[in-house]
Amino acid sequence: MTLLSKRFGYSLFLMLLPWILFFFVHPAPAAAADSQDAADDTIDLGMHYEILQDPTNSITIDELIEGSYNSSFAPSTEKYISFLHTKDTIWLKLNAADSIPNREQLHWLEYNDKIENLNVYVVRKDGSYELYKSGLYNLENQPFAYPSMLFPIDTSDVQEIYLQLNGQLPLTIFTKFYTNNSFLEKVTAYKFYSGSFYGFLLALALYNLFLYFSFRERSYLYYTLYMFSFMLFQGTMNSFDVELFGHIASPWLLTKTLGLSCNLMIVFMVLFGKEFLELKRHLPNSNRLLNVAIGLAVLSTIAVIAGVPQYYTDLFITAMGLVVLIFLWVSGVRLLLKGHKSARFYIVGWSFLLGSMIIQALVMLGFVPLSLAVFEEIPAYSAMFEALILSLALADKITLIMKDNRRTQEELNETLEKKVVERTQELEKIQVELEHLANTDRLTQIPNRILLDHVLENEFSRAQIEHTPLSIILIDIDYFKHVNDTFGHQVGDDVLVEAAQLFKSSVRDSDTVGRWGGEEFLIISPSTTLGEALELSEKIRAVFADFTFNAAGKKTASFGVAFQMPGDTLNSFISRSDKALYAAKENGRNRVEFINIRQDTDF
Ligand code: GH3
Ligand code: MG
Ligand code: MG
Repeated sequence: MTLLSKRFGYSLFLMLLPWILFFFVHPAPAAAADSQDAADDTIDLGMHYEILQDPTNSITIDELIEGSYNSSFAPSTEKYISFLHTKDTIWLKLNAADSIPNREQLHWLEYNDKIENLNVYVVRKDGSYELYKSGLYNLENQPFAYPSMLFPIDTSDVQEIYLQLNGQLPLTIFTKFYTNNSFLEKVTAYKFYSGSFYGFLLALALYNLFLYFSFRERSYLYYTLYMFSFMLFQGTMNSFDVELFGHIASPWLLTKTLGLSCNLMIVFMVLFGKEFLELKRHLPNSNRLLNVAIGLAVLSTIAVIAGVPQYYTDLFITAMGLVVLIFLWVSGVRLLLKGHKSARFYIVGWSFLLGSMIIQALVMLGFVPLSLAVFEEIPAYSAMFEALILSLALADKITLIMKDNRRTQEELNETLEKKVVERTQELEKIQVELEHLANTDRLTQIPNRILLDHVLENEFSRAQIEHTPLSIILIDIDYFKHVNDTFGHQVGDDVLVEAAQLFKSSVRDSDTVGRWGGEEFLIISPSTTLGEALELSEKIRAVFADFTFNAAGKKTASFGVAFQMPGDTLNSFISRSDKALYAAKENGRNRVEFINIRQDTDF
């Protein structure tokens, strides 16, 4: 799975790389238009204007043509003129002689922004004029579907051109003159770049939507929704709503699209950030604040629809967008500092968007000169990188989650294995203890009858197979009943314990001493001849008789020795030692006896 998601990430990146390179290597449309060849065909009009601001909204075109306000016009000092929100009517005057170099051709005057009412008066040399009404309220006058306002100007007879601007929308004035040819070039380039740009974003959005369907991770869904809302916002910024729906949508709606789509984008931006960074779990307070931001975006949507003056709603949405963006970025950084690795790509992606927003804010505040790039190229590139890197962030997050799962699984396995080993060791120990308990005499702590039988069986068959000698010595303490009778059962027990130790310390390691029953003991001596066994018995007998027991004093014992003979069974072998012991008792006790003839008839 990890490999799969990694491969997804790489293939996605490779798929999009040519696109990105192409954007960088290829000159952007604006730059192409500004190049040497097109210099004569495309004219930025900003510096050519004379400007009149009319707070009374009452000046008429006739008064202007008469020249009553000639002294009130001020020459423009900027390439791009901006009034933002103003209730005043703005008049722009162009002197055709100095703004149109090639007067033989038809020109297109382009006004590159949304505006409610834009009237263009083309004044001829004889003082008569033509009025072109345009703007969102007069879109039916557009010569064809296009995002900007367009005016065909037959330049041969033109003296002056007046632009009358009016409305609630912020006024940023990007106007150009195109010859027919240069306009055609510009439209072709614009179609190509906007197609590539939106195609890129759409591919990413759809790709992540598919990932959502396969992974069922909600971040993917919110990413897709965020991408769609972003495309909607960027599209209305680029006036695609005017181009695509200008002929059917109401002008009222077209003045609201920017505010509405920005609010929608803020909502999905927040939802994606909350989900991706898991803020509910990691930063609950930030999560609550972001829920408030969603509420505010909904309120501001209602305000936009209810017709609160554009100035206030625009200001509010811009401020909120910026605050939310910074807040999400800071949340990402905080999580990264807390050790959440998955935040790293998120921060990088968000930095692109934040960077372009900050540049726009600096422009608004006047720290950076206004240019078309601020509203078109910079947001476009930053959006592409942001979209791409956020998509990588998602792939990275899935990889991290999988790694984490695998590590947890491994840790679990390790502890399980450790537990199994521990349990097995415990069981083995218990088994050894149980075996010891089963084979040991409780009182004397030497082998009991069970173990003696077992050893006897083994040694008996081994001696038979290997033809090695085997001897056993059966020992019975003399007059033991007296001990019990005289000193009590406890002293009897003590004598048995001491006797056991005595026997044990008197034999070799290869011998086995055990309690046969009552006050009888058995020594099994492998590789021991009859002579050696007799010698051993005699030695033990002497040591025993010499030993002084704690309370019972001196005691003696009798010994019955048997030596394994050909044709013996285990029973005949043991029985001989029993008989020998009986003989020792008969013959006066405290002595060693043996029987060296087989008496098979007894069995
Ligand atoms: P002999 O010389 O003929 O062997 O005489 P004896 O008294 O030793 O023989 P007997 O077999 O008559 O008595 C054995 C006694 O050993 C009987 C029993 O009370 C005692 N005895 C057996 N097992 C134990 C034990 O575990 N503890 C104690 N204190 N006495 C035991
Ligand atoms: Mg006995
Ligand atoms: Mg006895």
